[in-house]
Amino acid sequence: STQIQLINRPVGWPTQDDFRTATVELPDLGPDQVRVANEFVSVDPYMRGRMNDVKSYIPPFALGETMTGGAVGRVVESTAATHPVGSVVVHDLGWRDVAQGDASVFRVVEEIPGVSISAYLGILGLTGLTAYVGLVHIAHLKAGDSVFISGAAGAVGTAAGQIARLEGASRVIGSAGSAEKVALLTDRYGYDAAFDYKQAPVREQLRGLAGDGIDVYFDNVGGDHLEAALDVMRNGGRAALCGAISAYNATERTPGPDNMVNIISRGLTLEGFTLGNYTHVFPEFAAKMGPWLASGDVVHDETIVDGIENSVDAFLQLMRGGNVGKMLVKVA
Ligand code: NDP
Repeated sequence: STQIQLINRPVGWPTQDDFRTATVELPDLGPDQVRVANEFVSVDPYMRGRMNDVKSYIPPFALGETMTGGAVGRVVESTAATHPVGSVVVHDLGWRDVAQGDASVFRVVEEIPGVSISAYLGILGLTGLTAYVGLVHIAHLKAGDSVFISGAAGAVGTAAGQIARLEGASRVIGSAGSAEKVALLTDRYGYDAAFDYKQAPVREQLRGLAGDGIDVYFDNVGGDHLEAALDVMRNGGRAALCGAISAYNATERTPGPDNMVNIISRGLTLEGFTLGNYTHVFPEFAAKMGPWLASGDVVHDETIVDGIENSVDAFLQLMRGGNVGKMLVKVA
């Protein structure tokens, strides 16, 4: 099995030298085990935090060991009646072309006609669920709300814009890092207005688009985006703090919003969340997302890098904004 392992803890931006590609001999299967040929492997922003040796909501990656994370593949060998050869399985064993182990760590999923199994790593998986939980369970989105979503052209952001509209938002504004992405937000992902945060200060641009203010802010970025949102939030506004990617590779302390007093004066609620505490929402989410996808009410896109040996490159591209929708590695 070809596997990508973390060998150094990066400071600032990770580099190829922080990883190695290893060839690992796999033993014969024991009882109730499976061997899985991975088809798609996920790269996600949260992985940057796990590369650091700090205590967080999930423990750091171990040095010298294979990077773990979401993956989907097909059972090619099995000693488990529950996981026959050919089953599609989702698991968390990450950056390797072949995964093997106890059947219990591989979740069998249904193959949906016309939908790539890669969707289980994106719109039908954790990123879709993240968008739904943030809007509905954290920010308590209600019909008529005006919504702002940062990181809008990524996996979570493209889902969030569409879910907000389907849940009755009156206006959905998004931000992203290029003119092409901004065009996709309004033409394809149901945003009413969008701006390129690299072109002018976020605060100015958001003020220009927010009309009489926003009720809900879905934050993927932190920093200047959170500050801009606090500036235009209406009384009683709610923010779901999902991510703060603008600071994930920072080597110095990053300045915080200068307008925190608005939280007091406008009675705002800012609530952070991590998905691990909301997996119980999955059935509710799936019951809505399945029909939305089938009817075409929700579209989803993927940016795919070929070859497990290019996983680090895919991760770095993701952190630099080289993706639209979900960033994935396709195992050759
Ligand atoms: P994305 O597909 O959104 O990819 C990351 C994107 O971040 C890039 O495409 C890039 O787009 C943008 N970005 C990078 N640097 C900056 C910056 N300095 N300022 C603004 N945007 C930047 O990833 P995901 O959809 O998987 O994740 C989105 C966010 O959600 C992340 O913050 C992630 O950590 C968080 N998350 C949180 C979860 C939770 O449980 N709380 C679960 C899953 C994700 P651009 O070209 O627009 O810059």
